[in-house]
Amino acid sequence: MNFKVPRGTQDILPSETWKWQRVESVIRDVCDKYRYKEIRTPIFEQTELFQRTVGDTTDIVTKEMYTFTDRGNRSMTLRPEGTAPVVRSYVENKMFGYADQPVKVYYQGPMFRYERQQAGRYRQFVQFGVEAIGSADPAIDAEVISLAMELYKRVGLTDYKLVLNSLGDKESRIAHREALIAHFKPSIDELCGDCQARLEKNPLRILDCKVDREHPLMQSAPSLADFLNEESAAYFEKVKGHLDAIGIPYELDPNLVRGLDYYNHTAFEIMSTSSGFGAITTLCGGGRYNGVAEEIGGPASPGVGYALSIERLLLAMEAEGKSFTKDADLDVYIVTLEEDAHRKGFKLLNELRNAGIRADMDYMDRKMKAQMKSADRFKAKTVIVIGEDEVADGVVQLKNMADGSQEKVADSTIVTALHEKLK
Ligand code: ATP
Ligand code: MG
Repeated sequence: MNFKVPRGTQDILPSETWKWQRVESVIRDVCDKYRYKEIRTPIFEQTELFQRTVGDTTDIVTKEMYTFTDRGNRSMTLRPEGTAPVVRSYVENKMFGYADQPVKVYYQGPMFRYERQQAGRYRQFVQFGVEAIGSADPAIDAEVISLAMELYKRVGLTDYKLVLNSLGDKESRIAHREALIAHFKPSIDELCGDCQARLEKNPLRILDCKVDREHPLMQSAPSLADFLNEESAAYFEKVKGHLDAIGIPYELDPNLVRGLDYYNHTAFEIMSTSSGFGAITTLCGGGRYNGVAEEIGGPASPGVGYALSIERLLLAMEAEGKSFTKDADLDVYIVTLEEDAHRKGFKLLNELRNAGIRADMDYMDRKMKAQMKSADRFKAKTVIVIGEDEVADGVVQLKNMADGSQEKVADSTIVTALHEKLK
C-alpha cells in the first residue's frame, strides 16, 4: 500500500517552509504596526455557525464544507473561513465590552474546503485574515485595505490591483434583489441549475456563478450601484475618499459580489495583474459584515475584514519572479577527521550553541571532502576543522568561507574568536 498526501493538500517541505515563515514574519510585523493582535480559534466549529453566517446558498456551505458528526452526535465542520469563528469568539467572550473598540485581530491558519483541485485552489490552504469589529467608521474599511496592500508590497509584489464595490445596506439590497429577479426570471432556463435554484433564494449569488460568468445576462444585470440608498451611497463615498487620501488606487466593479453572504457595504478584492499568474487572479477578498454578530446572537457589532491565502501570495511572487533571499543556515560547520576529533567536535558544538552560535557537524562518518560540501550547502560562514594534530595541540583550524583564509585558534578562545568574526 502506497500512501499519498490527500488530494488538494500539500506537504510543505523543510526546503520550502522558510518562505512561509518569511511571509509570516512580514504579517506579524505589519499587523503589529497597525495594532492588530493575533487570535487563535479552533480548527472546527459547530456546522450551524457557518450555515448562518456564510449563508445557506453559497458554494462554501452547499458543496465545500468538511462536515462530520462527532461521537456525541453533533454536526461539526472544519472551518472553511475565519470570519465566522472570530465573530463567534467576539460575541462569546463579550469583546464588545472591551474599552477599546474596534477590536482589531488577525488570524492565520489552515482552512478547509472541498474544492476541485487546480492551481491556486486547494482543499487545505492557509489563510491570513484581519477583522476589525465594533466600528462603522468608513476609515476602518480603508485601514484594513491599506494593511493588505502593504503586505503585498512588503513581500516585493508590484503587479496587483484593488477592485472595489459597495453591496449597500439591507434596504438597498432588497430593492436590488427585486430587480435581479425581474431581470433573470424570463430567461432563467439558459443558466445553470445552481443559478436556477438561486433565483428566488438569493439572486445576488447568480452574479458570483463560476459556470455562467460569461453569459450576456450577467453583463446586462441590474447593477447594485444604481440601487444604493442615500446612506449606503454616502458611506461608499467616504470609503473611497479615505482611500484617495492615503493614495491607494482602486478600480470599481459593480459586479463584484464575493462568495459569502455576510457582506454589506464595502466589498473588495486584490487581484494579481501579472501575466504569469494563472486563471484565478484573486489574491485577497474581504469587506464589511455589519450583521454577523447579531445573526449569531450577539449585540449589533459592525465589522470589516478580509482573508488571503499564503499559497496564492507565494504563487503571485513566483509569477512575478520575485523571491526572498535565503539566509545562511549556519554560522559554523564543524568538520572532524577521526574519532577523538569527532568527540572533541561534539563537545565544542555544544559550547558554540550555548554561546548563541548556529552550528552543526557531520553525523555520517564521512570523508573531509563530503563534510566540506555540506558546509557549502548550508552556506556556513565559517568552518572549524579538527584532526589528530588539533586534538593533540588543544587547537582548531578556523576557516573563513568568505575569503578562504585560515587560522589556528586555541580551544579556550574559540567562542570569542567566532563572536568577533560573525559580528
Ligand atoms: P474564489 O472566488 O477564488 O473561490 P472565494 O470567494 O472563495 O475565492 P474567500 O472565501 O473570500 O474567497 O477567500 C479569501 C481568499 O482566500 C481568496 O482570495 C484566496 O486568496 C484564498 N482562497 C480561497 N479559497 C482558496 C483555496 N481553495 N485555495 C487557496 N486559496 C484560497
Ligand atoms: Mg471559493
